[in-house]
Amino acid sequence: MQAFISGIVPLSTTKWFGKLSSVIFFGGCDFRCRYCHSPGLLEFKQEFLTDIKKITSEVNKYTDIAEAVVFSGGEPCLQRLALISLAKNLKNQNLKIGLDTNGSKPNVIKELLSMELIDFISLDMKSSLNTELFSNVTKSKTFFTRTDDITENIKQTLKILKEHQGKVEIEIKTVIVPSLVYKKEDILNIGELIKEINCTWVFQQFDNQKELVDKNLKNIQPASKSFLENLKEFCLKEYPNLRVKIRE
Ligand code: SF4
Repeated sequence: MQAFISGIVPLSTTKWFGKLSSVIFFGGCDFRCRYCHSPGLLEFKQEFLTDIKKITSEVNKYTDIAEAVVFSGGEPCLQRLALISLAKNLKNQNLKIGLDTNGSKPNVIKELLSMELIDFISLDMKSSLNTELFSNVTKSKTFFTRTDDITENIKQTLKILKEHQGKVEIEIKTVIVPSLVYKKEDILNIGELIKEINCTWVFQQFDNQKELVDKNLKNIQPASKSFLENLKEFCLKEYPNLRVKIRE
């Protein structure tokens, strides 16, 4: 079976924080987030087509050292069959499996969780699910797909995560981008959506030094440490049960 895979980082501790993992980058994404650092990964390019056996044997070279594999991208859930097949193969080799996702494909996430193929899931909550804001941040609306349908899918994903909490480690990540995703009320709206999920909520510092989908964001300075700390305190006052972490 072939899949659109742009590459592998053999050993990383940043995708599944603190866990030494091989990271497989799936090509192709259904979003075009303005702050995305992987503009080259967003299309299904012919040059990405790879036999998944080749991917498995590449990961195998590091199984003595790596404890886990993380599927990242792009959006891995757009390639359901390849994703499930790779997860099964690598799980059979006693590797823990992590998934980085934008949450747009709840059925695939549900299937992976029901098959117990996932140990860690990192869901990127791009913004609150306010239609205008979500559309502006993700540029995910197409001629065929309305933003409201996409946000409905994200709600489904959150529901599925709630149903599986305790069986899987859950991280919910929000990139704080001044001028785009930074207002207290918007961040609180995300808190409201995730308040009943047993998860770690990560406030990820925006980085304007790397390549970006929206080059205009190059001029936006990342939020200060104190801004992020204040935001965290503000959210914890409202939702004391949430575990909030700042990642720079
Ligand atoms: S940041 Fe957005 S556009 Fe980039 S890979 Fe993730 S979901 Fe896709």
